[in-house]
Amino acid sequence: MTNSQNEFVIPAVPAVSVAVRGTSSRFPVRRIYCVGRNYAEHTREMGHDPDRELPFFFQKNPDNLVLDNGDFPYPPQSNNVHYEVEMVLAIGTGGKDIKANKALDHIYGYALGLDMTRRDLQGEAKKTGRPWEIGKAFEHSAPITDIVPVATCGHLSKGDIWLKVNGEVKQKSDLDQLIWNVPEIIEHLSTIFELKAGDLIMTGTPAGVGPIKRGDVMEGFCEGVGSIKTKVV
Ligand code: MN
Repeated sequence: MTNSQNEFVIPAVPAVSVAVRGTSSRFPVRRIYCVGRNYAEHTREMGHDPDRELPFFFQKNPDNLVLDNGDFPYPPQSNNVHYEVEMVLAIGTGGKDIKANKALDHIYGYALGLDMTRRDLQGEAKKTGRPWEIGKAFEHSAPITDIVPVATCGHLSKGDIWLKVNGEVKQKSDLDQLIWNVPEIIEHLSTIFELKAGDLIMTGTPAGVGPIKRGDVMEGFCEGVGSIKTKVV
């Protein structure tokens, strides 16, 4: 049987993809993994001890991405929506139980993203032991830049990462401050899930997270990737 559109009882969802910088090609997105509490200062500001925790992960959905510096619509059911600026890994080759010393070979490129969070709903979920999707995986919750191929930017392990709101610096750190660095993230995540080409990994946010309101403009920057800009509407 051929794969015709007639095969589906409702219209099939088109694949989500992100532009690849410097080319007319696109990177198709499979899953979005996010690392929780991966900068020591941010871990402390959230009330946890950075020295005692293994990395942990949650997910967003590919269709939560906001592309091309598009607007971020303030989501429903929350009065406390936070920005979290994060370097993003784009996996080009999948695998299970990937060793840290081979992990970089699996990366196609890097991007910069915002892990937008309904902090009030996430807080309730933590308190009640419920899943985090309600706080993390809502529509438009993942603005992202285009993807810069490793061939262009090399591997990113050091350099400024920051976020401004309306021109004021709110978050500022260095990629070398990650508690679990990029190879360690891939090593650990690939023991839990089988990574595949097309997966994105948001690597965690520095300290300084805080709320936004309609009309605010968020601008993020990461050395090696460049900037992202999105307006809250
Ligand atoms: Mn985050």
